[in-house]
Parts: sequence; structure tokens; C-alpha cells
Amino acid sequence: MSTAAPLLANKLDWNDPHLINADLHCHSTVSDGTLAPEELAARAAANGVQIWSLTDHDEVGGLARAAKAAAEHNMIFIPGVEISVTWSAVTLHIVGLNVDYENSPLEKGLASVRHGRTERAMEMSRQLEKVGIEGVYEGALKYVGNPNLISRTHFARCLVERKVCTDIREVFERFLTPGKPGYVPHEWASLKQAVDWILDSNGLPVIAHPGRYDLNPMQMDELVEQFVKMGGVGIEVVTGSHTTDQYATYARKSVRSGLKASRGSDFHGPTESRVNLGELPRLPDGCVPIWDNWGKLFS
Ligand code: AMP
Ligand code: MN
Ligand code: MN
Ligand code: MN
Repeated sequence: MSTAAPLLANKLDWNDPHLINADLHCHSTVSDGTLAPEELAARAAANGVQIWSLTDHDEVGGLARAAKAAAEHNMIFIPGVEISVTWSAVTLHIVGLNVDYENSPLEKGLASVRHGRTERAMEMSRQLEKVGIEGVYEGALKYVGNPNLISRTHFARCLVERKVCTDIREVFERFLTPGKPGYVPHEWASLKQAVDWILDSNGLPVIAHPGRYDLNPMQMDELVEQFVKMGGVGIEVVTGSHTTDQYATYARKSVRSGLKASRGSDFHGPTESRVNLGELPRLPDGCVPIWDNWGKLFS
């Protein structure tokens, strides 16, 4: 936490946390975003964000820079991370908020999750060669800001550049999702590992964009139940990945499960994101914002 945080926290009105503009999910060049941490901080501040978190995939390498930039823009900064998880044969994302990012269990765990990415990327490239698209690994590397973190997004940018597809969404649909020629299944962290790494670093585990997963309602209930038992604290309700209907669906799930509600754009860059940093609707009435008691935490 920055030393400026108590001063900043005292300026916010904690009587109605719903009115505080919190954006607790986005990506920088340290994972698969297109803006540097400093550029994200400037953009968040310009858009009125008061509590901001950077949550790069499986990586905390941008957090020190983001914290410094956030302080310069008078925002409360919440160090975050988004961990890739395999649960019930499905890939899920678990966000950790307010993590002690120099804490070794988290760092070690993330290093193990990152480890398989390069090999997976090379295999994706081999698979794409079989359908006549050559050298995508090398092409994707041009977009990678952090050699430890090559992701499907970097592949997608390369295929758009080569005009194989017109936009990133199309690349995922045609090539990078289960059953498609460039999709390589991968075993990420277990749910328990991800939750434990976050808890061990004094952070708050949050289920990211639940509406995006290929789970039936019973499986979703099972996920929430297991997550709560493991010590999970929050669930994203308002995110750039959800439709308006899903805001209501997951607000109800938040209330019923006792998981606090989170809000984050999942911003990846000015030309690639549905929702701009800080420009999200408020959380629906009735759910408890995950930041509702952070006034005490930071004062
Ligand atoms: P990876 O961690 O390498 O599997 O890549 C996952 C990332 O790909 C996500 O964090 C998103 O940024 C991006 N992504 C996944 N599905 C889609 C999609 N349908 N359209 C655009 N981006 C996507
Ligand atoms: Mn991403
Ligand atoms: Mn995600
Ligand atoms: Mn994300």
C-alpha cells in the first residue's frame, strides 16, 4: 500500500461506497494489454477512477510502476493479479485484490503458472502451420511486452496484422477457442492453489467475469460453493465481459452466496476493449461492493 493511501482514502465518501468509482480489473503491456502501467494510470485518473487495480495475467511485474503512477494521480491503488486456473476441465480466471506482491508464495506460484506458456505458444504455432498459417509464434512475439508472458491475445494481434482475420474477436472464434485449429489445451493452477496463493499474500480472491465460462447453472453453483469454502471473498458483477442482464444475474449470485461484488472494466487497450477504464455502470443496488470497508483499511 502506498504511504499516500490514508490521505487519499480520507477524501472519499465511504457512507455510500456505491458512488465511489472503483475499477478493479485491467491489463498492461506486462501481460496482454497494449498500454504501459503509467499510461493506464493516467487514463484511469482522467476517467474519474478513484480506486484502481492493475490485474495482469499471472504476473505482478507491473505493480510497483502502477503504484507509483497511481499515487501521482491521487488514486488509491490496489495491487492485483488475475490467475489462470483449470477447474472441472474449464479455464477460469481468479483475481486477487490487494495482494502483497512481494510475498513469495504468490510469486512462486505465478512463476509456475507462467512456466508452460512458451511451450504452449510454440505448440499453437505448430498447429496453425498445419492449417497453412506459418511463423505465428515469431509474429506474436513482436507484440509481447514481457518475454515470460505470451498469450493467445498476442497471437490474435499477429493474425489481424496479417489480415487473416479482421479483428481479434474473429481470431478467437476461428482459431483460438476449444475445438479450433490453434487451440492447445493447457493445465493451469488449481482453484485451491490460486485461492491459497492470494490468501497467503493477504489478498482477496475474486471470481473474474463468471458470465464468460462454459459452465451450466449447476456447475456454476458448485464453483461458487467450493470457492466460498476455500475462503473466496468476491465475485465480479459489473465487468466489461458481462451483458446488462448478466449484471443482474451475478448481483443476485453475489447476494445469495455472500460473496462481495466487484467491478472492473477488464480493459486491454483503446482499440480492443468494449468498456473504457472507469466507464462502467454502478453495481446494482443490494449487492455489497468489495471495497465497502476499505475506508477503514486505508485510514
Ligand atoms: P491466454 O491466457 O493466453 O489463454 O489468453 C486469454 C486472454 O485472451 C484473455 O485474457 C483475453 O484477453 C483474451 N480472450 C479470450 N477470449 C477472447 C475472445 N473471445 N475475444 C477477445 N479476446 C479474448
Ligand atoms: Mn487478457
Ligand atoms: Mn480474464
Ligand atoms: Mn482480465
